[in-house]
Amino acid sequence: MSAADAVREDRLWQRHVDMAKLGGTPKGGVNRQALSPEDAAARNLLASWANARGFSIFTDAIGNLFVRREGTDPAALPVMSGSHMDSQPTGGRFDGMYGVLAAFEALEALEDAGIRTKRPVIAVAWTNEEGSRFQPGAMGSAVFAGHNKLEEMLEVKDWKGVVLKDALAETLKAAPAPMREGRPGFGLDGYVEAHIEQGPRLENAATTIGVVTAIQGSRRYIVSVAGEEAHAGTTPRAARKDAFAAALRIAQAMYEATTDADDTLRFTIGRVEVGPGSPNTVPGSTTFTIDMRHPSNAVLDAHEDKLGRIVSTHAAPCTARIERVTAVPPTDFDPMVVDLVRDRARSLGLTNMDMPSGAGHDAMHVAQLCPTGMIFVPCERGISHNEIENATPADLAAGTRVLVEVLTELANR
Ligand SMILES: [Zn+2]
Repeated sequence: MSAADAVREDRLWQRHVDMAKLGGTPKGGVNRQALSPEDAAARNLLASWANARGFSIFTDAIGNLFVRREGTDPAALPVMSGSHMDSQPTGGRFDGMYGVLAAFEALEALEDAGIRTKRPVIAVAWTNEEGSRFQPGAMGSAVFAGHNKLEEMLEVKDWKGVVLKDALAETLKAAPAPMREGRPGFGLDGYVEAHIEQGPRLENAATTIGVVTAIQGSRRYIVSVAGEEAHAGTTPRAARKDAFAAALRIAQAMYEATTDADDTLRFTIGRVEVGPGSPNTVPGSTTFTIDMRHPSNAVLDAHEDKLGRIVSTHAAPCTARIERVTAVPPTDFDPMVVDLVRDRARSLGLTNMDMPSGAGHDAMHVAQLCPTGMIFVPCERGISHNEIENATPADLAAGTRVLVEVLTELANR
């Protein structure tokens, strides 16, 4: 029996059902905040399954949870797969959890098929990917990769003032696992993350497997427009410096300048503040945020220039400036892993297409450490970060079959 043949759709689906009860919401979604009692319950459930199969578990100083199946060469660097078990406050049953359960199913399939791999294979549940309770998101993988400082992350507070290290201590008390001492992070020979697409492209193309080539880069900006406050009843139009009206002209020009033929560039104005915010005063100030994403840094650079020009040419009679707040560069996945995912999808007879990821994932941090790739499966209508998020048992299993074949190949390199 091949590893792919040993993937059991019913078992994988039942595990999703069992996990969805932990933090389950009345509308059928989940609210499983990072390092909450629900997170601890999910950790315990995963650990109980691991123990039943004879896999070892361990955790690290930021609370990442690892499930390890030994290889035949004790000195070989492991390959790893996984995602996260925390959710948005009104999250779905599959975002993150699918990647963890697919990785665990891969371990079980290897076990059931009696396949010995040279390298150990590890399933991981990264701490706090969502960033909804503790900021920033993708924290566990960022600390693992050395991109965020452990000491700083342990001091982060949630909205209620709870310090992360206290929440982590509570979680590890409720869901104990052997601690790997020292700084998080260890050598890896490869990493593959399975995830629901969280967008509609696969479903629209009636395609089962997304071969993820990259994670697009993202940049955030704040545009500040300064005008002059004036009486809404007495001030003629020509005498106004209406900051909101200028912001509207700027925004409209930006929407037009960021429309691309193949609809790859993502441009969002998500927050607007108008000051002083009085119904009968002409606005003297307006600020708005921009979130812009694309897989190519060159394209982001070019559009950043365009935004800057628009701000300087469309503000009159007000003044305006644009400030870049954050810039996360795109992640290009390793061609060897990308090719392997595509090849295994094909040999399993699964429809597939290459695509960049629109959302950020833990894989973007791990990609700096070792050859890395991702596998997407469709989700219903592309809806995610929503309680109605849905995926089919067959698609989840198909992605897992590709995953276990890729992991087997990497683990025997
Ligand atoms: Zn996710």
